[in-house]
Amino acid sequence: MKTKIFILLLGVGFSLCSHQVAITFDDLPIAYPGHLSPEVQVKYFNHILYVLDQHEIGVTGFVVGMNIYPYKWNLLNEFCSRGHVVGNHTYSHLNLNDTSCTAFIEDIFRCEEIVDSLPTWQRYFRYPYLHRGDTPEKKDSIYRFLYKAKYHIVPVSIYTDDWIYNRDYLRAMERGEDSLLDSIGSAYLDHIFQVSNYFDSLAYRYEHRQIPHILLLHMNFINSLYLDTIINWYEQNNWEFIPVSRALQDSFYWKENTFIGGTGYYHLVPLLPGEASKR
Ligand SMILES: [Zn+2]
Repeated sequence: MKTKIFILLLGVGFSLCSHQVAITFDDLPIAYPGHLSPEVQVKYFNHILYVLDQHEIGVTGFVVGMNIYPYKWNLLNEFCSRGHVVGNHTYSHLNLNDTSCTAFIEDIFRCEEIVDSLPTWQRYFRYPYLHRGDTPEKKDSIYRFLYKAKYHIVPVSIYTDDWIYNRDYLRAMERGEDSLLDSIGSAYLDHIFQVSNYFDSLAYRYEHRQIPHILLLHMNFINSLYLDTIINWYEQNNWEFIPVSRALQDSFYWKENTFIGGTGYYHLVPLLPGEASKR
C-alpha cells in the first residue's frame, strides 16, 4: 500500500513538474509585414506587447537594424519601456553561409551602433536564419569574434516555422481568401503545440531531465492574433516563462556545437533522429 502511495505521489510530482521556456522574438521591430499598412503594423506590434503585459511575461527581441524606419523607432522604444530586452540580429539580416566573415562582422557592428542606444540592450546575438556558417573556418571565425566582443549567442531549442504560417496567412488575406484564414491559424497552433511537446520530450530523453527551453517566434502578424492562445496553452500545460538570461545559465547551452551545415542550427539538432550517431 505504501509503495502504491509513493508511486502515486511520484506521478503527481512529475506531472506537476513545470517545464520552462524563454520567449524570444526575431526580426524586430516588424517581421515580414507583407501588404500590411504602417498603421496595422503598429497596431499589431502593440497588441503583442499588450498580450505579454496581460500575462506578465518579459521577452527578448532581436533587432534587424535596417528594419527600423522613423516610426518604428517608437516601437522599439515602447518594447524597451515595457522591460523587454533587445539583442543584435545584424543590420541587414545577412545569411552567414553566403557572406564573408568580414562583411558579416561589419553588419553586426552596424546593428550594434543602433541598438546600443536602447535602454534594455544586452550583448545578445542571434544568427539570421540560425545559420552559423557552412565551413568550420567560418563558424570558428565568427565564434571567436563574438566571444572577443563579449556577445552571448542566444540559441533556440523550440523552432516553430511561424514565419511560414505568417506568410501564408498574409497572402490569403491579400487575395481575399478569407475561408483559408482560420485553417492556417489552426494549423499554426497545432504545429506549435506539437513541436513544443516534441522538443521537450526529445531533450528529456537525452538529458534525463527538464531543460529550460528557448522558443523562437517572429514579431509578425500571425503572432499578434494567436500569442494569447499560445501562452494560455503553455500555462495550462505547466510551462513557466523565464528570461533568456536564466535559460542560458543551464549547462545544456554550454555544450560544444559541432554542427556544420547549410541549414539553420537549433540546439536540439544533434539529438534529432539520425543526427545522434554523428555526435
Ligand atoms: Zn531573423
